[in-house]
Amino acid sequence: MKSIQIAIDGPASSGKSTVAKIIAKNLGYTYLDTGAMYRCATYLALQNDLKDKDVEAILTLLSESPISFGRAEDGSQTVFLGDQDVTLAIRQNDVTNNVSWVAALPEIRQELVNQQRRIASKGAIIMDGRDIGTVVLPDAELKIFLIASVEERAERRFKENQEKGIETDFETLKEEIAARDYKDSHRKVSPLKAADDAITFDTTGVDIQGVVKFIQEKAEKIIDRG
Ligand code: C5P
Repeated sequence: MKSIQIAIDGPASSGKSTVAKIIAKNLGYTYLDTGAMYRCATYLALQNDLKDKDVEAILTLLSESPISFGRAEDGSQTVFLGDQDVTLAIRQNDVTNNVSWVAALPEIRQELVNQQRRIASKGAIIMDGRDIGTVVLPDAELKIFLIASVEERAERRFKENQEKGIETDFETLKEEIAARDYKDSHRKVSPLKAADDAITFDTTGVDIQGVVKFIQEKAEKIIDRG
């Protein structure tokens, strides 16, 4: 059977990772959460009190404590820096509110994009992020750009945070999501945008299963054709 590359991009909390994980499981594909990788770099920067001028030091820390993924007993994905489990730490507000400046550093992007391409080279991959269809996997057979209203995205993230025990105020969350989208869309290197050949899908009011069905049907058509 043909194995393809699936790129899912879109703004914060547009449901990318939730649907990508389900589709990966259904198709038996590898799922790569590239946002988690930028969050790891940000976590290292914050832990070591580093700023954007310290990009070399952030890169050194990344090579000393490489990013890897594992699986918890309940089947959920875990994230490691070296042998430290940072799954929860990288979702905390301080990381979320600093990730855009770290992700705007070209040297950090270069390093993480290289790692992402290495993982993708094994094939049968579904990756989510901001620049997957435009930069990381420009030849991906299926590119999806997911959007949703800020209101709905804030509601989704609010619920997610509650489940994870992360405290948030709804209005603040909405402002933070809008601010992160603005920064991610306006940075010089690899800004958040749909690839010319991406299919844009507005998920406002669409449930997770609806989004999964939409993408998976498209993927299966391409796989069956191969
Ligand atoms: O997907 P998630 O919200 O976890 O991503 C966190 C941040 O990582 C984004 O706001 C963005 O700044 C950065 N990112 C990126 N390129 C990617 C994935 C994430 O710049 N491919």
